[in-house]
Amino acid sequence: MQEFDLFVIGAGSGGVRCARIAAQNGARVGIAERRHWGGTCVHLGCVPKKLMVYAAETGRLIEDAPAFGWDVKRPSTFNWAEFIAGKDREIDRLNGIYISMLQKAGIDLFTGDARLIDANTIEISPSPLAPDEPVQRVRAKKIVLATGSTPVRLGIPGAELAITSDELFHLPTQPKKVAVIGSGYIGVEFAGILAGMGSQVDLFYRQPLPLRGFDEEVRTHVQELIDLYGITQHPGTSPARLEALGEGGGVRLVLEDGATYDVDAVIMATGRRAAVDSLGLDAAGVKLENGHVAAGVDAKTNVPSIYAIGDIRDQYNLTPTAIAEGHLLAERLFAPQGRSWSFETLPKAVFFSSPVGTVGLSEEEAIRKHNVTIYTSRFTPMRQALPKRAGKILMKLVVDRDSDVVLGAHMVGPDAPEIIQMLAIAVTAGLTKKQLDQTVALHPSSAEEFVTMRMPTRSVDKQP
Ligand code: NDP
Repeated sequence: MQEFDLFVIGAGSGGVRCARIAAQNGARVGIAERRHWGGTCVHLGCVPKKLMVYAAETGRLIEDAPAFGWDVKRPSTFNWAEFIAGKDREIDRLNGIYISMLQKAGIDLFTGDARLIDANTIEISPSPLAPDEPVQRVRAKKIVLATGSTPVRLGIPGAELAITSDELFHLPTQPKKVAVIGSGYIGVEFAGILAGMGSQVDLFYRQPLPLRGFDEEVRTHVQELIDLYGITQHPGTSPARLEALGEGGGVRLVLEDGATYDVDAVIMATGRRAAVDSLGLDAAGVKLENGHVAAGVDAKTNVPSIYAIGDIRDQYNLTPTAIAEGHLLAERLFAPQGRSWSFETLPKAVFFSSPVGTVGLSEEEAIRKHNVTIYTSRFTPMRQALPKRAGKILMKLVVDRDSDVVLGAHMVGPDAPEIIQMLAIAVTAGLTKKQLDQTVALHPSSAEEFVTMRMPTRSVDKQP
C-alpha cells in the first residue's frame, strides 16, 4: 500500500493548492479526483460562467456598435452550439494544465472515487472518468477533504424536471424561454447571461429584492438593472411544483399562488450543499454540522488526522477562499510561514451585466457597530452615451464617522469586479476617506469617482 504524508480528496481550487504547497515543502502527496481535474471552478463554475458572460456582453457590444460608426449585420444571431464547443475546448485546455501542474510538482494522481476506510486509509475505486482503473488503497498521515459542493434542487414535486447550473453548461441547444428560480449569485448571473444571449428570462425569488446579504442600495440598483436588461422579475414568489409539458418538451412552473409559466427550461439556482456523499465520513468518524463537515478556522475536523477546506465546510464558499484555506493548511502542516489572508475584507462579485463588486461592510452591517457617513454616486458611463443605453453606475462608500476608516466599498457597473479588487487592497490596509480624497483622479475613467466623492450623501448613527 502506498504511504503519503498528505492525501487530498478532490482536485478543485482548494485541493490543488493544498497539494502543491505541501509537495513544494517536501511532503509526499497524493490526490484523488473522480470527475474534473480543476474542480467546479474550472468546469462547472467561475471559468465557463465568465466565458458565458463575455459571450452575452459581446452581443451587447454588437448592438451598440452602429452608434460608434460600425456597420454590423443586424439582427446578429448567437450560435449556442458553436459557443459551447469553444468553451469546452478552453476547459479541456485548462484541465490538461491542472494535471501537468500537479504531476510537475511530484504529486501522485489517482483518478477515481475516493472514500475513507478509517482515519488514515483511503480507497479509490473506478469512476466514470476512469472506469477501468483498479481499486486501490493508500494510507496517509494527514487527509484533506476538499470535494466542494453541488447544486441543490428544491424539494417540490417535479423538481427533477429542472436543471441546475451543472447541466446548463452542457445543454445541446439554447433554451429560448427560461424560468430561473433563486436570486443569489447563480440565479442573477445566469438570468443575465441567458438574457444577453437572447433568451426570454423570468426570474423568480421569494425576497422583495435580489441578492440577499448584499448592501440594500446595491440590491435595489441591481433590481432596476435586471428590469432594464429585459428580464421579468417575480419578487415575493415561491414555486409549488413543476410539470412536464408533454412530447414537445418544456416545463410548466406552478407558483404557490397558482400562477403558471410554460418554459423550455427551469433553472434552479437555489444554493449548494457539501459534496459528502460516499466519502466514508462515518467510517472515519468525521462529524457533520448542517450537512457540512464541521471544521474550525484551522480546517481541523473532529478527527485529528483529517482536515476540511473549501465549500465542503461551508464558510465562505468562494474559489479564492478555498485556495487560501488550502495554502494556509499546507503551510501550517509542513512549513509554517505565518502567512495570513484578511477574510474580513473579502471582495465579492456578481457577474451580472452590469456586474456588482463589493468589499467590506454593507451599510446595514456597518451601522450595527459604527456611526457612519455614506457617500454615493450614480452616473451614466461614457461608453453608454452614444448608443443611448440606459442604466447607471452606482458607487458607494461606507465610512466610519469617528475614525474616517473606509469600512465598505460597493459598485454596480461595468468593470466593478476589476475596480473593487484594487480598492479591496486599500480597504484591507485600513485606508481612510481622507486618503482616498488625497488620491488624484485618473481621467476619464469610471473608477475616478471613488476618489472624487466629496459631499456625503447622509450620516447614520449606530443602531446596535
Ligand atoms: P445563494 O445562496 O447565493 O442563493 C440561493 C437562492 O435560492 C436565494 O435567492 C434563496 O432565497 C433561494 N432559495 C433557497 N431556498 C429556497 C426555497 N426553499 N424556496 C425558494 N427560494 C429558495 O446560492 P447560489 O446557488 O446562487 O450560489 C451558491 C454559492 O456559490 C454562493 O453562495 C456563492 O458562494 C457561490 N457562487 C459564487 C459566485 C461568484 O463569486 N460570483 C458565482 C456563483 C456561485 P433567499 O435569499 O430567500 O434565501
